[in-house]
Amino acid sequence: MPQDSLIVVCPICATSNRLPADRLGAGGKCGKCGHALFGAGPVTLNSSNFDAHASRSDLPLLVDFWASWCGPCQQMAPAFTAAASQLEPQMRLGKLDTEAETAIAGRYAIRSIPTMILIRKGREIARQSGAMPASAIVSWARQAAGA
Ligand SMILES: [Zn+2]
Repeated sequence: MPQDSLIVVCPICATSNRLPADRLGAGGKCGKCGHALFGAGPVTLNSSNFDAHASRSDLPLLVDFWASWCGPCQQMAPAFTAAASQLEPQMRLGKLDTEAETAIAGRYAIRSIPTMILIRKGREIARQSGAMPASAIVSWARQAAGA
């Protein structure tokens, strides 16, 4: 049975918003802070908002685990941002700085970067290491999410 409403977590304040599923692409705004729920690119993930996006949201979360010293990560950053504009609003994209957020990087046993992990309702469903162009990120994520 298709869900008729979805929990969408605000990219700015991490509040859970309940949206009718058929209004997902309609440019909804956060009921608490008023910010647009989509369109601002990947969310900067940290210890205070990670679990909301990974577990509380009904949308799959695609995380780019990166670090500032990593050349391939820097190269992939514009591709990941471009992928966000294609994968939203069916998915949320976020970036996790593995140097700043070592506990989360450790929880996912990140051994090389960039690594992308697709998470749905708190569960890892796919992972891929190495930089990819935007088109490859989009097709890999859609296939992995079964969408
Ligand atoms: Zn908000």
